[in-house]
Amino acid sequence: MNFRIGHGVDVHRLETSGSLMIGGVKIESEFGAVGHSDADVLLHAICDALLGAANLRDIGYHFPDTDPKFEGADSKELLTEVVRLIETKNYNLVNIDCTVVLEQPKLNPHVSEMCGIISKILKVDEDAVSIKATTHEKVDSFGASKAIKAYAICLLCS
Ligand SMILES: [Zn+2]
Repeated sequence: MNFRIGHGVDVHRLETSGSLMIGGVKIESEFGAVGHSDADVLLHAICDALLGAANLRDIGYHFPDTDPKFEGADSKELLTEVVRLIETKNYNLVNIDCTVVLEQPKLNPHVSEMCGIISKILKVDEDAVSIKATTHEKVDSFGASKAIKAYAICLLCS
């Protein structure tokens, strides 16, 4: 067995307008995430973890934010394309572990829905997708609800 580890991180600014998509779920919030696509910080971090593990560059390389084609893009479709890319190198996902850093609102009520959406796109059991949420203890830009961040780490095998 050949195992490959991958790591991804993503950040988006938050504003008091727009919508907040996290893990493919629209979250009720007074803040919206700013980005060229739907600004889904969690799906973007997962894309980069998968691409990194397969040594296939990064999300900006495949879906440049200068390309009008990706304006307002549904990140579920970007992740679907990333899955196709790692399949071209004959890799299978073993598991993925993610952390979302967001001061508010609480994400725990939405985690199981996110796991369901993400595991379907990744074609794995829900047990292979871990999503954790944490605050930034009111410190810095994340703590002041000016930005959201997500980390993802994954293991591929072939
Ligand atoms: Zn992003």
